[in-house]
Amino acid sequence: MVTKPQVIIIGRPNVGKSTLFNRLVGKRLALVDDQPGVTRDRRFGDATIAGLEFTVVDTAGWEDDDPETLPGRMRRQTEVSLEGADAALFVIDARAGLTPLDEEIARWLRSQTVPVVPVANKAEGAAGEAGAIEAWSLGFGEPVALSAEHGEGIADLFGALWPIIGEKAERRETIDTEAADAEESDEDAPLGPLKLAIVGRPNAGKSTLINRLLGEDRLLTGPEAGITRDSIAVDWRWTDPASGEVRDIRLIDTAGMRKKARVTEKLEKLSVADARRAVDFAEVVVLLLDATKGLEHQDLKIADAVLQEGRALIVAINKWDVAENASSLFNGIREALNEGLAQVRGLPLLAVSARTGKGLDTMLGAAFEIRESWSKRVPTAALNRWFDDALAANPPPAPGGKRIKLRYITQSSTRPPRFVVFGTRLDMLPKSYERYLVNGIRRELGFEAVPVRVVLKSPK
Ligand code: GDP
Ligand code: GDP
Repeated sequence: MVTKPQVIIIGRPNVGKSTLFNRLVGKRLALVDDQPGVTRDRRFGDATIAGLEFTVVDTAGWEDDDPETLPGRMRRQTEVSLEGADAALFVIDARAGLTPLDEEIARWLRSQTVPVVPVANKAEGAAGEAGAIEAWSLGFGEPVALSAEHGEGIADLFGALWPIIGEKAERRETIDTEAADAEESDEDAPLGPLKLAIVGRPNAGKSTLINRLLGEDRLLTGPEAGITRDSIAVDWRWTDPASGEVRDIRLIDTAGMRKKARVTEKLEKLSVADARRAVDFAEVVVLLLDATKGLEHQDLKIADAVLQEGRALIVAINKWDVAENASSLFNGIREALNEGLAQVRGLPLLAVSARTGKGLDTMLGAAFEIRESWSKRVPTAALNRWFDDALAANPPPAPGGKRIKLRYITQSSTRPPRFVVFGTRLDMLPKSYERYLVNGIRRELGFEAVPVRVVLKSPK
């Protein structure tokens, strides 16, 4: 039996240390006892985040002291407290921003040997964003933004703690995902209007397509603050003939940007630059090809830029009304996309005509569908069931006779989907095995054709 790692919560008064302690200890709070004597000011609790077990130590008792003398007192107290600690959570108040006392504590912590995880608490909503960014300046690396009170960001805390204490913690046989899942469920906001951009080389038919889509019902919302100076967002409603559903779409019209840029930039460069800007605000990007030209290198570059930015991509072959050798053209493009874009398989590929309107409803339907996968979250329990099966079916290799241990997986974000795999000796993991996992996530968990990122994390 390995002793449980100990994690100490440190920070100035009122930043939310006790709230975080209670959040981590949860129902097990009943087991917590104030320790008599020397350790009077500390509370110990059993904490679990998604199967990672540790003892958490709250130092909130110090707050009763005069803030002037706090650092001095803290130094004495924590000489005792830090001794058994494997990690320190240094909590700041993201709403209040950094104070001189935070900085003083930071200076003191830097002189200690314990690994420090900066935690920006009270980061729910937009109000905490600035404070969370400010916490970078404490010099302990990337801050974990969370809300102890609302239970948000606890999975990220797992991600930060695991590399430090994961080795020492014993992973429980059955993973307790309650905390992580409860946190995930309210994080994913309902999907608003589909933010759609159409990109492609000059003359592919983008303007024609936009005019066709909008038709008579065109409702220009005008240049929007916060999008970009040169682009226009057009809000409109589309009735899906397949289901009869009425759906909102916000189309990003980059035509204006193109015209403006045409004066100074070369056309070749332009469409890639266009794509880059369009993807900044689009959820789904349609890459429009010209059936009379086929797929060219430039198109692959645009597609690659879209995927690099983590956006969902659809490829539509326009001018299908004048396409020759239609089926070999289609298959040729399909093959070239599979070869040229290694990061996704089975991109939606459609034949359309902006001139006749053929295929446009199918294209929009596909755009809504791919946004679903792009926005999807797999609950941690289901994800780890899949993970355990995938590892059992094809165990990771054992270079030099020592097995690479893959322990746990979480989906760290959606839109685009990102996953974090925790384990040891991950630097030895062959790329081919990483691809095996990524392909499994795509095929078996429903992330077909969207860019999926997987990050590996080991204890330091
Ligand atoms: P401590 O002195 O560091 O232990 O701080 P407490 O845990 O006692 O919290 C101080 C105050 O901050 C209390 O009023 C909490 O309700 C509040 N608080 C704690 N966590 C959060 C949070 O995530 N968001 C917000 N808005 N308030 C919080
Ligand atoms: P953009 O530069 O991508 O905005 O392309 P435009 O919309 O200006 O179209 C370039 C040319 O292709 C124009 O002459 C259009 O009439 C023509 N075009 C666009 N869509 C179609 C189509 O579906 N079929 C055919 N035959 N021509 C099209």
